[in-house]
Amino acid sequence: MTLNKPLKIKMQEADNVAVIANEGGLKAGTVFEDGFTLTTDVPQAHKAALVDIPKGRGIVRYGQIIGYAKKDIPKGSWIDESLVGLPPAVDVHQLVYKQAEIPAREPLKGLTFQGYKNPDGSVGVLNLLGIHTSVQCTAGVLDLAVKKIREELLPKYPHVDGVVALKHAYGCGVAINAPEAKVPIRTIKNLAKHPNLGGELLIVSLGCEKLRPEVVIDGNPRAVEIVLQDKAGMAASVAAIVKAAEPILERLNKRTRVTCPAADLVIGLQCGGSDAFSGVTSNPAVGYAADLLERAGATVMFSEVTEVRDGVDRLLPRCANAKVGKRLLEEMQWYDNYLTMGGVDRAANTTPGNKKGGLSNIVEKAMGSIIKSGTGTINEVLSPAERPTKKGLIYAATPASDFVCGTCQLASGIQMQVFTTGRGTPYGLAMAPVIKVCSRSAVAKHWPDIIDVNAGRIAEGDATIESVGKEIFALILAVASGEKQTWAQKWKIYNDLCVFNPAPIT
Ligand code: CA
Repeated sequence: MTLNKPLKIKMQEADNVAVIANEGGLKAGTVFEDGFTLTTDVPQAHKAALVDIPKGRGIVRYGQIIGYAKKDIPKGSWIDESLVGLPPAVDVHQLVYKQAEIPAREPLKGLTFQGYKNPDGSVGVLNLLGIHTSVQCTAGVLDLAVKKIREELLPKYPHVDGVVALKHAYGCGVAINAPEAKVPIRTIKNLAKHPNLGGELLIVSLGCEKLRPEVVIDGNPRAVEIVLQDKAGMAASVAAIVKAAEPILERLNKRTRVTCPAADLVIGLQCGGSDAFSGVTSNPAVGYAADLLERAGATVMFSEVTEVRDGVDRLLPRCANAKVGKRLLEEMQWYDNYLTMGGVDRAANTTPGNKKGGLSNIVEKAMGSIIKSGTGTINEVLSPAERPTKKGLIYAATPASDFVCGTCQLASGIQMQVFTTGRGTPYGLAMAPVIKVCSRSAVAKHWPDIIDVNAGRIAEGDATIESVGKEIFALILAVASGEKQTWAQKWKIYNDLCVFNPAPIT
C-alpha cells in the first residue's frame, strides 16, 4: 500500500522530532491531520522538528538526546544532519550497575524444528561439507578442489546441502603471539566447530604457516589434514583434497533431520545499511522475535559494538547480574581503545547511506539498533567469536561491519542470522541461512527477490510489530527445518568470511 495521507512517526512522548513515513518524502506546506504543517520539504525517513528547537537545545528521538541543535531549528522544518551536533559518548567508568526489573515471561513450550544432531550435542540447520584452511596460501588450490567436488561428487550425495570453502586472510604474515591474536585464532578454531558442518573437519594446510593446523583441529578425532607442501604438484594436491572429501560426503549423506526442541536454536541478529525506519519497523519486529526465541528457550545473540555503544546505559540494567554488566562495559572499553588507536571514535561508524536514510549520527543509529535485542535479560556477554555457555539473550561483542560481524557470530555458533536493512543489501553467508528483513516497503518492492520479510508494512498500518515479529519467528523455524529457503540461499549469494584481526600484520 502506498500512503496517500501525510504520516509522521514519533517514537516517544518526550520526542521533539518525528520521522516522515511517506515514500518520496513530503513537500513544504503539507498539513497533517493534527494540524502540524511542514515549512520545508522533508525526505522520507528524515526528521521534522515538532516544535521550535533553539540552538544548543537537545534533539530528542526515542526519548533520548540524539544530538544538539547547531542552529535555531524552526517548527515544521527538516532536520538535516548538518544541524545535529554529536553528544559526547557515555563515560563507561561513570556507569553503575543496577538491575532493572524485567517481568518473568511465560515460556513457549512444545515448539520444535527439524535439525541435524551433531556428535558434540549441537544441532545444525544445514548439512554442509566444510573445508577449512589454516592459511590464505592454500585458498586457490582449495577453489580448484571445491569446483571438482561440486561438479563430480555432490550430485552423488543428494542429502548434502553443499560444500563450503572456509577461506580467510589469516594464518601467516601475522604477529601470532600478539595478545589480540587470540581473536582471529579463536574465530578460525570455532568456525571449525560450526554446527552446520556436522562435526566433520577437513583442513587444507600449507606446511610452513604460523597458525598450526593442530590448533584449528583442537583434538577433533574426525579431522583429516591435507598438507600441500607434502604433495607432488598441484594436480596431486587437488586430487588429495577431492579424495579426502568423498568419505565425509558419504557420512554426511546418511544424516537425516530429527525433531529438536526450539531451545536448540542459536540465532544471530544483525543490521546493515540502516535508515531512520530501521528503529521503527524492522528492528522492533526482530526484537519481538528475539523475545519469542528467548521464551522458547533458544539462544539469541546481538552484536555490533559501535552500534550499541551509545545505548549502553540502557543495556546495562538489563544484564543478569553485576558480573555480566562488568563484562558489557569491558567490551565497550576495549572497542573504545581499539578505535582510539586508529585515531577515530564510534562516530566513524555511520555511512553516507545511513545519512541519506535519515540517520543523523551514531547515537540515533544506536537507539534504533539496540531495539533488535527485544526486552529480555542479557544472560552473558562474549568477546568476539567466543562460544556462549548460557542460553537466552546474549550480547556477543563484534565489529558492526556486516561481514566481520557475520563471521564472528558464525564462530560463536549461530545456525542462522536475521539481518535487517533499510537501504538494502544482498548480504548472505555460505555457512548459515540469512533472513533479510527490510525497514521500508520501497526496498521490498525494489528488491522483491532478495528481501524475505517486509517490515515496512508496519509504518503503513498494514501490519504490527507483533504480527511481523511472529512472522519472522515462524520463518526462523521453517528455514531451520529446511522447509523454506531464504532468498540469499536460493540465489547462493554469499559474502566472504572476514576474520577480525585486531593484532598486527608483519
Ligand atoms: Ca552490521
